[in-house]
Amino acid sequence: MAEKAILFDTSKCSGCKGCQAACKSWNNLPSPTALNADAPSFTGTYQNPPDLNGMTRLIMTFAEEQGGPKGIKWAFGRRACQHCADAPCVTICPAGALFVDEATGLVTTDDAKCISCRYCASACPFDVPRYAGERGVINKCTGCVDRVANGMAPACVTTCQPGALSFGDRDEMVALAEERAAVLRERGFEDAVAYGVDEVGGLHVIQVLKYGTAAHGQVVDPAVNPAVALTQIMKPVTGAVTGLTVAGLAAMFALGVGYKRDKRVYNVETGDTLDVETHEVLKHGDGQDTESIKEHILENLPRRKGGDHE
Ligand code: SF4
Ligand code: SF4
Ligand code: SF4
Repeated sequence: MAEKAILFDTSKCSGCKGCQAACKSWNNLPSPTALNADAPSFTGTYQNPPDLNGMTRLIMTFAEEQGGPKGIKWAFGRRACQHCADAPCVTICPAGALFVDEATGLVTTDDAKCISCRYCASACPFDVPRYAGERGVINKCTGCVDRVANGMAPACVTTCQPGALSFGDRDEMVALAEERAAVLRERGFEDAVAYGVDEVGGLHVIQVLKYGTAAHGQVVDPAVNPAVALTQIMKPVTGAVTGLTVAGLAAMFALGVGYKRDKRVYNVETGDTLDVETHEVLKHGDGQDTESIKEHILENLPRRKGGDHE
């Protein structure tokens, strides 16, 4: 099977959130209203929930801007895994719980292998993986590889009525995106751009961003934390998870942290999210220290027959 990609054309999106609902439906992920409790009662946006969470793999983002013939411009955005060709989450995962599906190039997950270390969350330049505490695993878009392997398109793509989402060979999706962005520019949308062609080694979600990258909430020039490549030396050649692997990765990430979306960083020692420039704490974590995280990981390592860690 050729390398695949999802194409999202913001200029065709109606903001109906059918894709968001279809993702929950196919993946059997509930949508309790309590999840929105951290948002003010009315935020002035149709975006709901406010961000990805342990039970939400895809959200549509809503940005309103003044301007245009109707006085307001909607810049819808797709917030989900971008399926990086050179995926830092796959590189850093010590347990093989995140991996590239060989048939499609999509980055998928194996829940049974996840040891809850959450290094992937720190490594992702798009701030995508979320910890599903109630299930004890990382939650992110799987690319619906289970559907694709059976000849179907991902659930989000199948449900999209205006044709804003397509699925096919990556080369074809890239060509379509570039062609569409050029047409939009000719029509006066001078910031229209095809996104995902080269970012992070090339993404498997290609987007047509009508009003430009930032307007649709996408990361301008996403960067991978150099520490991600260094962590490879901590992985034993067998690829098995060991206490040494985990302790080494924890030490590396205690020193620093991943580059995050919108220049935010995550501190694994405190769980806090900070602004890179001002160091202001934007979101307080659960206060876990490195030792307790390591303890938790070691408790959950895969075990050999007889009870010892591998
Ligand atoms: S590809 Fe599947 S898992 Fe990913 S956002 Fe679409 S429906 Fe959800
Ligand atoms: S967007 Fe983040 S979670 Fe998705 S493949 Fe890239 S690094 Fe991994
Ligand atoms: S289903 Fe299609 S039109 Fe509706 S929000 Fe998703 S991408 Fe946009």
